[in-house]
Amino acid sequence: MKIIPIPCAFDNFAYLLICESTSQAAVIDPTEAYPVWREVEAAGVQLTSVLCTHHHQDHISGLGDLIAEQPDLQVYGFAADKNRISGMTHPLADGDLVLIGELQGKVIHTPGHTTGSVCYHVNSALFTGDTVFGGGCGRLFEGTAAEMFVSINERIGLLPDTTSFYFGHEYTEHNLLFAAQLEPENSAIRARLEKVRRIKTDGGHSSPSTLAEERATNPFFRSGEKDIRKNFITVGLGADDAQIFALVREARNSF
Ligand SMILES: [Zn+2]
Repeated sequence: MKIIPIPCAFDNFAYLLICESTSQAAVIDPTEAYPVWREVEAAGVQLTSVLCTHHHQDHISGLGDLIAEQPDLQVYGFAADKNRISGMTHPLADGDLVLIGELQGKVIHTPGHTTGSVCYHVNSALFTGDTVFGGGCGRLFEGTAAEMFVSINERIGLLPDTTSFYFGHEYTEHNLLFAAQLEPENSAIRARLEKVRRIKTDGGHSSPSTLAEERATNPFFRSGEKDIRKNFITVGLGADDAQIFALVREARNSF
């Protein structure tokens, strides 16, 4: 398995996922078609499928051009979004399997950012779309904070710590500034912030991260932590982790 990040538009990431034993490949969230074709050609692989994490335009706007060029592409997305992802050929349900050459991916339904958001789990990689970002999570456009809490903490949060997170946008630095404000004593956040700034200075990007890294620095995995809860003492000691999560999300909206 090989994964090539494809920076698109202003701060989006598409990804080329390659099965090295068959040279077949899938693209995740094609914001634009041209940079995808360029990587497909450079890698010398055959593009067979498109995996859509959700229906937002900035994740699917290259889809029409890809299909026009290659009408036999298999296009995957959450079944309920069939009318919102034009060209979908393979509607998915939670737990479905997706094949890319000999690679097998599993669909994890993660509502919150949108009702039909999914993550794709392929070996040790998770394509998170706009559900989880480096140091943060997506805005709640359609789902509730309670749904997003479950998606993040009780679904993808149960994967192995070594899982690599390939997220949909380069928002990591700003997210970590917010995280550092919530937890000024957290040295892992400061260290990650410095690392991300170094990477950006060198012209690189912060994707992927690991689940272990997110657990240590991402407030949306940490709403049970005392130092996070301290920021919201007005809600009282009885607030559960999901309620604190909702308050963290609300605070991030205006950061
Ligand atoms: Zn989105």
